[in-house]
Amino acid sequence: MNQAETIDGKAIAARITDALVGKCAAYKNAVGAPPCLAVVLVGDDPASAVYVRNKGKTAKKIGFQSIQETLPGDASERDVVDIVDKLNADKTVNGILVQLPLPQQVDEDKIIELVDPEKDVDGFHPINVGRLGAGALEKALIPCTPAGSVLLAKEALGDLTGRHAVIIGRSNIVGKPAAQLFLAENCTVTIAHSRTRDLPALARDADILVAAVGRPEMVKGDWVKPGACVIDVGINRVDAPEKGAGKTKLVGDVDFAAASKIAGFITPVPGGVGPMTIAMLMQNTLTAAMRQNGVTLD
Ligand code: NAD
Repeated sequence: MNQAETIDGKAIAARITDALVGKCAAYKNAVGAPPCLAVVLVGDDPASAVYVRNKGKTAKKIGFQSIQETLPGDASERDVVDIVDKLNADKTVNGILVQLPLPQQVDEDKIIELVDPEKDVDGFHPINVGRLGAGALEKALIPCTPAGSVLLAKEALGDLTGRHAVIIGRSNIVGKPAAQLFLAENCTVTIAHSRTRDLPALARDADILVAAVGRPEMVKGDWVKPGACVIDVGINRVDAPEKGAGKTKLVGDVDFAAASKIAGFITPVPGGVGPMTIAMLMQNTLTAAMRQNGVTLD
């Protein structure tokens, strides 16, 4: 029976962050201080707090300076604007990430547009969205999760030229930028979404199937073309009564057990795209810092 090769996102991400240690040291030699990443956390959403903690931990491990600005859940939009203004003006801060989602009294688009595009390590500012859309990747800061997803597909398949990439999901933070990046890799790209007709048939035509929906195990085994590369972006917490009363576990948007009997390559959840997102954030922080200070490293 076929058994897909599991793409080890954790190991690949560790390889990337390990390589950043030396680059960070070389950057520090050139500039006199390491790259500095500032993360803004508003409120006490437990998942966001875990993400922010992991980002800070990885940044420090590489040798970056890591700053965290924390505001209470009832902070006003003005409070968030003031923090972002301060970080924009601070020349020692190279990367700014405002952890989403923001509380409802804060206009998310307004905050995203306020972040200096050259410090926008999430790649969500319209200027960076435009650069990505125009194919000016060398000037853009690229959203981390899509960038990590493409790298995992390249690890598995090598050159992606001419392959049919089907992206399920059209969000601004994952689906749309993933489509642009696969296009930049010379894939033929289809974006599918909640209104797509006969999604299983479309998915079955994919050489690379990316699931970024947020619906636990929605993609079934028979949606997968034999030998395809499946990149599961979804992170869903579901009940796990088999682990004991009240226990939960994380699953992706793909039925992993069934899909791995058909696919050629597949990412696990957890341990696939998730760790790559943090590695790409670190890469973006170094890239932003190098551009701001005119540093090139070989
Ligand atoms: P989102 O809710 O903004 O977008 C979901 C997309 O899925 C929408 O475009 C919608 O059209 C599409 N969709 C919804 N129902 C559908 C259906 N029945 N059939 C086809 N398409 C459907 O979500 P998002 O922010 O893009 O995140 C998607 C998933 O990725 C979530 O599980 C999220 O937790 C996860 N995520 C993971 C990482 C990571 O680091 N691994 C980062 C960001 C998001």
